[in-house]
Amino acid sequence: MYQKPNKRLTGQTAIVTGANSGIGKAIATSIGRDGANVIINYITDPEAAEEVANDICDDKICGQAIPFKCDVTKEDEVQAMFKKAVDHFGTVDIVVPNAGIQKDYPLHEMPLDAWQQVIDVNLTGQFLCAREGIREFLRRGMRPEVSAALGKIITISSVHEKIPWAGHANYAASKGAIVMLMQTITQEYGPMKVRANSIAPGAIKTPINREAWETPEALNKLNELIPYNRIGEPSDIGSAAAWLASDESDYINGSTIFIDGGMTCYPGFTENG
Ligand code: NAP
Repeated sequence: MYQKPNKRLTGQTAIVTGANSGIGKAIATSIGRDGANVIINYITDPEAAEEVANDICDDKICGQAIPFKCDVTKEDEVQAMFKKAVDHFGTVDIVVPNAGIQKDYPLHEMPLDAWQQVIDVNLTGQFLCAREGIREFLRRGMRPEVSAALGKIITISSVHEKIPWAGHANYAASKGAIVMLMQTITQEYGPMKVRANSIAPGAIKTPINREAWETPEALNKLNELIPYNRIGEPSDIGSAAAWLASDESDYINGSTIFIDGGMTCYPGFTENG
């Protein structure tokens, strides 16, 4: 879906993690297209990150973008990423800790490693990025000329913060925890004008869930779970994230926005369950 570019994020800097692929790529592109400078975080595939950065920089009204390699589970690497953003762009205004993984097992067969890796990336990674963002917001202070907020944090959750998911207990637990992380940030730092919200995507066509959409049979089965009867595109999330980062959504604080074509309306109950 084409997002009409505008300048609502001009003069601001965003860090988007896992921005070389899928949803993170779309978020970084949308935010950059709206005028912000963007750190394109990646862990593997620097070429893909470079391509996202070039796409953003090519568009005349966009901000600048630079790729930065960082494992979001490593405190020192996350701190180095924020330092790079501050050194290069002056500050950070928008943090989107999007990086996420799945390691699926029935619970009784799940190795501790698979549990831990998912919690490390999906929860600890978001905590580390949110913490560094808040530290930078507090250090820098208000800039009313660019935003009504001191800073914006957009955690990336999932419909599985709400819908239990057999075979994916580690993933569902990590996303359930994101609600409390995000809302606690809202409660703790809202008075200082930090705005924290989550986006909870439904089924979006990215590499993380390829087996759910790559054959017509799989896609038909998936569509049965979606009242709007189509899989989501990464740009469905990107355009919403850019809006959520802007002052147009200034009174939205502590909310999870479900972007799921209606998946959380439980279509399985359409005919009496
Ligand atoms: P994706 O295309 O697989 O992207 C995941 C990104 O996270 C990749 O760029 C990956 O980098 C990065 N990443 C993984 N581990 C990392 C680490 N330790 N440090 C830094 N980056 C790391 O999947 P996606 O669908 O766009 O997922 C993005 C977010 O959306 C995730 O939080 C996911 O849970 C959430 N989500 C997705 C869906 C969906 O249907 N697609 C639905 C709900 C929620 P590499 O490729 O280099 O490993």
